[in-house]
Amino acid sequence: MNLHEEYWANLEQGEFKIRRCNQCSKWQFPAMTRCQHCLGEDLSWQKPSGRGQVWSWIKVHKPYFKDYADEVPYLVAMIKLEEGPLMISSLTDVKVPVVKCGTPVSMVIKKGRGGKPMPYFQMPSGPA
Ligand SMILES: [Zn+2]
Repeated sequence: MNLHEEYWANLEQGEFKIRRCNQCSKWQFPAMTRCQHCLGEDLSWQKPSGRGQVWSWIKVHKPYFKDYADEVPYLVAMIKLEEGPLMISSLTDVKVPVVKCGTPVSMVIKKGRGGKPMPYFQMPSGPA
């Protein structure tokens, strides 16, 4: 199983894990065989806090992908994880018209298209 498959297998088991270097302790996403900070090769899968902040986002109005045509508009966001890495994900259950960058979010695993578990991020309840 390659790193990509391992990432998705962890999500299938309900666990959001990313790679962390056992030499310098820094986290990275997406998974790579070498640490992008110290070039070490000793990394392991670990569970980050699941917390982060909205770093940037866009609202997709046009159905670019037919599988998601019935979900437009939806929000695609760049999330800065508390542990450091940036990851692209989607914001779910957004109840405000405009999302402020820096808004705290937390990760939730939800079924995406085809029933595949996907990491989404949600804002705390109440106005952001
Ligand atoms: Zn390292």
